Amino acid sequence: MTISEAAAAITSLLNASFIETPDTEARIILCHILQWDNRSYILNKNSTIVLDIFEQAIALAQERLTGRSLAAIIGTQPFYEDTFIVNDDVLIPRPETELLVEHILNTRDDTPQNVLEIGVGSGIITITAAKHRPHWTFTAIDISEAAVETARQNVNIILGESHNCAINISQQDFFIYNTPETFDIIVSNPPYIPTEETTRLLESKTISDPRIALDGGNDGLDFYRRILTFADTHLRPNGIICVEHAFDQRQALSELAEKAGYEYQCYQDYAGLDRFSVIKKQKN
Ligand code: GLN
Repeated sequence: MTISEAAAAITSLLNASFIETPDTEARIILCHILQWDNRSYILNKNSTIVLDIFEQAIALAQERLTGRSLAAIIGTQPFYEDTFIVNDDVLIPRPETELLVEHILNTRDDTPQNVLEIGVGSGIITITAAKHRPHWTFTAIDISEAAVETARQNVNIILGESHNCAINISQQDFFIYNTPETFDIIVSNPPYIPTEETTRLLESKTISDPRIALDGGNDGLDFYRRILTFADTHLRPNGIICVEHAFDQRQALSELAEKAGYEYQCYQDYAGLDRFSVIKKQKN
């Protein structure tokens, strides 16, 4: 059996309603086991597959059929220019979040910024921003100790153990979090899915991220309300709040922001859908 025949066999095994691109996933599984990049795959796909490799690939495909995400099975996920360690305890990084990071990097001038990230997860936002703005200061929190541990591992992998960036990652419940510090940027890709919809999505196996990384309360807006209250005392003059959200939350968010006396602007993702917003203190 050749590698591409094995890929075809695994593709048909991955035939489940919640798997959108079984052919891509089959290739990712094989590349992962063979430790190949895409180029090696293309150059070698007609070579014979070793039985042991094929069996390992089948085992991973079967695990995937249980609904566990491929990224968690493989243990890594690319984001921006790097590959991050991921697992069942963190939200799997989504490509749309790159736009939020890019916005932060581009909207502020080069003066040092004090940044707070709420819900650090695997660390993609803070670590990518720190890599490109090493003279900024970062505080990142997450309610999950396991997520904090994963983010710390990613700091060491991506920035190197002897990095000079000021990054403080700690376990905190944001709803009771307090600090004497104030911030120029408050950034978050918070849990924003309404509780009932979270249950439906998890049951359908469409996603397998941790519930606490997804569930934003009854209407999905709990974190945004808390962020706005927190910002009253912790956002510096001219500071900005940058938050990711669902495609259908623009109206609700703009109302919350404007009611609290903030300026609101929404931005779209690669698919043209409302994806993140920047909220600023109104100048008096
Ligand atoms: N900040 C992480 C991310 O954007 C985790 C977000 C979360 O857990 N909701 O991927």
